Amino acid sequence: MSDFIGELLPPDRLMLTPGPSSIHPRIYRAMMSTMVGHLDPWFLNMMMNEVQVLLRQVFRTENRTTFPISSSGSGGIEASMLNPLEEGDEALICVNGAFSQRMAEIAERTPARITRVTAPYGRAVDPEDLRRAGKGKKIKVVGATHGESSTSVASPLDEYRKVADELGALLVVDCVSTLAGMPIDVDRQRIDICFSGSQKALSAPPGLSPITVSPAGEEAIRNRKTKVQSWYFDLTTTMNYWGKERTYHHTPAIPLLYAFREALRMVAEEGLEARWERHRSNQRAALAGLEAMGLKPFVENPAERMITVTAVQVPAGVDGKAVQQQLLDEFNIEIAGGFGPLKGKIWRVGLMGNTSQQRNVLLLLPTLEKVLTDQGFQVPAGAGVAAAIRSYSESRLAAAVK
Ligand SMILES: *Cc1c(COP(=O)(O)O)cnc(C)c1O
Repeated sequence: MSDFIGELLPPDRLMLTPGPSSIHPRIYRAMMSTMVGHLDPWFLNMMMNEVQVLLRQVFRTENRTTFPISSSGSGGIEASMLNPLEEGDEALICVNGAFSQRMAEIAERTPARITRVTAPYGRAVDPEDLRRAGKGKKIKVVGATHGESSTSVASPLDEYRKVADELGALLVVDCVSTLAGMPIDVDRQRIDICFSGSQKALSAPPGLSPITVSPAGEEAIRNRKTKVQSWYFDLTTTMNYWGKERTYHHTPAIPLLYAFREALRMVAEEGLEARWERHRSNQRAALAGLEAMGLKPFVENPAERMITVTAVQVPAGVDGKAVQQQLLDEFNIEIAGGFGPLKGKIWRVGLMGNTSQQRNVLLLLPTLEKVLTDQGFQVPAGAGVAAAIRSYSESRLAAAVK
């Protein structure tokens, strides 16, 4: 028996985490479609074009260079840092959590000079601090993370754009946890390099990192004096595959692209604005419920809260990990904890893409109430659900007035 490995049967979880999010059956069906070669004319001329057309709509951009990189979201960080930065360049990276720190760490592996502009966890980097850090310097790149999902802080991108303009710098933004869940408008906000991940608010399987590069960003990359230090993430050559030429660079994950195309189609069907509003009303209801249960949001300033991820503090005396484990064991519900300095201090609830649904909010709140009660934290009976229901009716009223 010990040498027999059985049929694959993963547990049926509800993933209320900062990704991956649950996947709609339509997407699984698309992923199982017949394989073709990566140089098949149908694939080159139909599939890839359609993915790019749909992807430009999600990013709200006309950028020619818009395509999914074959990698997880972190590959998007690699590409967006390695391509514009070389010896002699300087960059400012906003760091206020684990993912923005990853951006800084990746940037620091380039020969460019990197300055971290920091904020305490739970806050966004102050645009004034960014301005001060760049004063009198020739800055090529300002890097920031739109939704710092390790803390659930959203950053003021428009303010960062102003500073980047003053410095004559490119604005590079990590939208891994926010694209298709929170408003992002690449052209209007003039983001030069923007990337995301397939498994978060887009609700496709993990493994693709969509990226878009503005004409100014392209020019900066074209004008490099040295070669991009990574062969795989060199956008100038990957673009020969995704650009007009469609010449071979590497074999992309074709089934993932099928799935991704279907996920993008679902975004287009719903409409981006309706999708943002869905995320907003579910987040609002979830937070109202969690607060009514006596939990405090980790991010104090409501203007700095993400919509796709909500962090709350683990109350004193409660074992955060034990609560997560019981939710998983008893209800198949997964929520995330904190990591790094926030380990054991916060829970992070993701309501992204296909998981951002009223029925999930109204399932999480009472199950969490049960678990918290078992773990010795007193919750006013039914208060979470009641507050969420109130929040939903307020959202409906507000929508009716509009
Ligand atoms: C999830 C996430 C990443 C990393 O994505 P992977 O797909 O895990 O590589 C990067 N940035 C942010 C903001 C994220 O939420």
